[in-house]
Amino acid sequence: RRLELTKFIQESTISADGHQVKLTSNIETPNDLESVINNGAEGIGLFRTEFLYMGRSQLPSEEEQFESYKAVLEAMNGKPVVVRTIDIGGDKELPYLEMPMELNPFLGFRAIRLCLERKDIFRTQLRALLRASTYGNLKIMFPMIATLDEFREVTKILQEEKQKLIDDGVAVRDHIELGIMIEIPSAALMADQFAKEVDFFSIGSNDLIQYTMAADRMNERVSYLYQPYSPAILRLVKMVINAAHHEGKWVGMCGEMAGDETAIPLLLGLSLDEFSMSSSSILKARSQILRLSKKDMGKLVEKAVQMGTTKEVVELVNEATSGK
Ligand code: PEP
Ligand code: MG
Repeated sequence: RRLELTKFIQESTISADGHQVKLTSNIETPNDLESVINNGAEGIGLFRTEFLYMGRSQLPSEEEQFESYKAVLEAMNGKPVVVRTIDIGGDKELPYLEMPMELNPFLGFRAIRLCLERKDIFRTQLRALLRASTYGNLKIMFPMIATLDEFREVTKILQEEKQKLIDDGVAVRDHIELGIMIEIPSAALMADQFAKEVDFFSIGSNDLIQYTMAADRMNERVSYLYQPYSPAILRLVKMVINAAHHEGKWVGMCGEMAGDETAIPLLLGLSLDEFSMSSSSILKARSQILRLSKKDMGKLVEKAVQMGTTKEVVELVNEATSGK
């Protein structure tokens, strides 16, 4: 099966009726790069940088981080690399930060919320990223954005660090695309406003489903509510993509849903621009998209968002794509 798929390594991802999308990889450390290249990824859609901070006893230095970002950018050789600033908290703890216990860690002090309070940590990461920016096609993404105020504050901090580096004579890329994760329902609902100010969105379906369904993604007893194909989730995703395209911005998805065989036809139909997934899923997803008609999937998803239940959506997709 793998052998059959390897013929797609060098290919672009173009649907049967000629619509092109990008298939990119999710990575956690520079060690994942080999698999990215071997599976024909068209870039990196999510570099989860928190792994540089985990499994150690103190914060990584600016220099250490710079070396990691530079290594990834150079290896990708001009292909886009979306680096997400740290998403610590929730299920990912850092023992050396001594964070107080929380009753609802997934609703608590994590990601950008932590960065806006521990600005020292945040500024160090931003400086490392800005310095690495001249080594490739860097895009910076912020996790867990709930309000426009948060986005404006992080861009202000980024601008300040950029200016400091420039004043010190350090080379920084002139224009770096800035995006946000859409993984909190408030951000999805306000996507039209965000779209005027960001360069791109990446939909974090893992958290977007968790927060929309009010079902802890780590709790097995409520895992039946993790429903990527539910009309509720599809409606949100549709809203986000349409809002971005209205402002001429692109949209990716970097949660598990982006590499899911049943979700892919629906996401193609909704005009998702970039699908970011584990490297091992890329070739299979590419072979699937090559066989699908974007136009037909567009009609299919219009029906799906009008269905009442997830089961009905799954049946609809299976019927339309069986044998494809
Ligand atoms: C997501 O929430 O979908 C996502 C990609 O981020 P993470 O899984 O790291 O929370
Ligand atoms: Mg997330």
